[in-house]
Amino acid sequence: MENFIYYNPTKLVFGRGQLENLDNLMPEGVKRVLITYGGGSVKRNGIFANVQKKLNDLGYEVLEFGGIEPNPRLSTVNKGAQFCKDNEIDFLLAVGGGSVIDCTKTIAAASKYDGDAWDLVTKKVQPEDALPLGTVLTLAATGSEMNAGAVITNWETNEKYGWGSPHLYPQFSILNPVHTYSVPMDQTVYGIVDMMSHIFEQYFHQPTNSPVQDRMCEGVLRTIIETAPKLINNLDSYEYRETIMYAGTIALNGMLQMGYRGDWASHNIEHAVSAVYDIPHAGGLAIIFPNWMKHNLDVQPERFKQMATRVFGVNPEGKTDREVGLEGIERLSQFWTALGAPSRLADYDIDDSKLDLMVDRAMKNGPFGNFNKLQDNDVKQILTMSL
Ligand code: NAP
Ligand code: FE
Repeated sequence: MENFIYYNPTKLVFGRGQLENLDNLMPEGVKRVLITYGGGSVKRNGIFANVQKKLNDLGYEVLEFGGIEPNPRLSTVNKGAQFCKDNEIDFLLAVGGGSVIDCTKTIAAASKYDGDAWDLVTKKVQPEDALPLGTVLTLAATGSEMNAGAVITNWETNEKYGWGSPHLYPQFSILNPVHTYSVPMDQTVYGIVDMMSHIFEQYFHQPTNSPVQDRMCEGVLRTIIETAPKLINNLDSYEYRETIMYAGTIALNGMLQMGYRGDWASHNIEHAVSAVYDIPHAGGLAIIFPNWMKHNLDVQPERFKQMATRVFGVNPEGKTDREVGLEGIERLSQFWTALGAPSRLADYDIDDSKLDLMVDRAMKNGPFGNFNKLQDNDVKQILTMSL
């Protein structure tokens, strides 16, 4: 392991009816709250109205900023930051999934910065401050509710990058599994693929000595693998929604990544695909991750064998590490496909016509990946395998 300091200031407020705790959670001195949301799902399922009423009852002046798109865009961040400056907002409450939360985090920092928010996303400038924010999560997927990261797309340049700052941690996140009942089948599956991918990004890491973290990753993965098929047959089950919602937060709140550097190359490649084609993040991951694994199988076949045996229960007898590892990767692909996730870029009508553009976007900041550093020819091979 490497030396590390772990600190996560987000208060996690989990379970039924936890919106009632809002008065204890809001910081002192706040007058004007901006509720941020996406394309309207929270208006249709009543969550927005509940949050708005609660804030009104508590005496806050409440404003709203909607229309945040899935794969949130820089133009929306800049618009939101201007809105905060013009209206003297002093607290942001994101009500939605990862896109709403990521956009809100970036608005929070951009509201305290005088230039283009792209300077922050591209790490040209480090934020010195940000508006405080909280979240009411409505979709189990990204873990953004309890981390300091955000992913933003610049649609003009076809670039999508993750960025982060300690200023971006939500002060609190309210996670009521009931809020995820209305998430449709496809988004439920994408959420499951995304949280599993986050664990795999961390499972394949450097340096290698990580027995505690390995077992934690494997335990969460096995739980998701057991629960996901039951959930997709019973989308209104509190128990299954609860398990998946908690798993999504644990998958990316830093708990599983203490003392090592995760790989994150598959996310980087997926961001390049989404930046060119605007496909759902986890749809892209379901396609790319198994091909990243195949491409990197020979880097450490014994680690792939460990995944195959411990997570998927592959029988290793009489087989090489490589064969066992490959069987594990096939099991993962089958698992995702059985849930209804895509397996080829062709499923999104993506062909090789913009392959070089995607490779270029992925390589924009140089070679990447901590388990194995990828060069442009590696990225091209993984994308070609994914067609
Ligand atoms: P999302 O883009 O936030 O939401 C996907 C869709 O689900 C939207 O159409 C949304 O509708 C809908 N939805 C959300 N909650 C719903 C509910 N309760 N009922 C019905 N529909 C609902 O999905 P996401 O997977 O959470 O976020 C994806 C983004 O997060 C990507 O940009 C990805 O790159 C990024 N990401 C961030 C991190 C991080 O750590 N920060 C990690 C991984 C990925 P509305 O728009 O109408 O609400
Ligand atoms: Fe992700």
